[in-house]
Amino acid sequence: MSDLPSTALVTGGSRGIGEACAKKLAKDGYEVIVTYVSRPDGAEKVCKDIEEAGGKARAVKLDSSDREAVVSFFKEEIKGKVSLDVLVNNAGITRDGLLIRMKDQDWDKVLDINLTGAFTCLREAAKIMVRQKKGRIVNISSVVGQAGNPGQANYVAAKSGLIGITKSAALELAPRNITVNAVAPGFITTDMTAELSEEQVEQMLERIPLRKLGSVDDIANTVSFLASENAGYITGQVIAVNGGMYM
Ligand code: NAP
Repeated sequence: MSDLPSTALVTGGSRGIGEACAKKLAKDGYEVIVTYVSRPDGAEKVCKDIEEAGGKARAVKLDSSDREAVVSFFKEEIKGKVSLDVLVNNAGITRDGLLIRMKDQDWDKVLDINLTGAFTCLREAAKIMVRQKKGRIVNISSVVGQAGNPGQANYVAAKSGLIGITKSAALELAPRNITVNAVAPGFITTDMTAELSEEQVEQMLERIPLRKLGSVDDIANTVSFLASENAGYITGQVIAVNGGMYM
């Protein structure tokens, strides 16, 4: 057993699904580090809520797509300072558009943050977890990464890519007692889905057998389970949390 604090790192923990994951993992007993890029106030509020509930948390500004910054963050703030027991690769953005009109910048930005950023965090976390001989990695993919979605070629490519990384990383890291799984949320009420029109939401509801959008806690509870001892024999899996949509 290490004397270092048992820690969970949640990328993009300043709001939405990341916020719910951070709060749930704090309740589960981990010290939590939440990263953010644009909303320090959101990240600080999440940490304050966690501390008020008796947990421990701190916020770090870290752009997942900035490779050098990610590598130095792990080197300077994680390695030898904490026991990195859980990584939740949650940071993500959308830049939607039909593919024949999709701008190169929108393709690059979404891939850089959602896929390359997650890969860099996973690689750096894995280096530390391999030495610890334990760890849990959960990548937040999406139902559209399994099924495709018109107008989201960039986002879908990134989210499918995350499923691929999950499977390869699970095979490579299993001998070191590290599990790697993906959660594929359906449509969850957050800032990301707040951009959708009423008509789009109605169309979506018709495709969801449970006839409602999911909540951030639906995802956080699944992440918490995958991070727990009870999920020790689950790796390389994609857990769909989508109200029963058929994939
Ligand atoms: P959200 O409310 O838009 O929050 C996005 C989070 O990512 C924020 O904390 C944001 O930080 C952070 N972020 C954005 N760019 C970043 C970067 N370059 N580096 C580090 N952090 C960055 O999104 P959400 O709906 O909670 O989604 C969270 C994850 O679930 C995403 O990966 C998303 O693709 C996935 N997902 C969501 C849904 C859904 O229906 N909502 C469905 C399937 C999958 P700031 O607050 O500082 O900007």
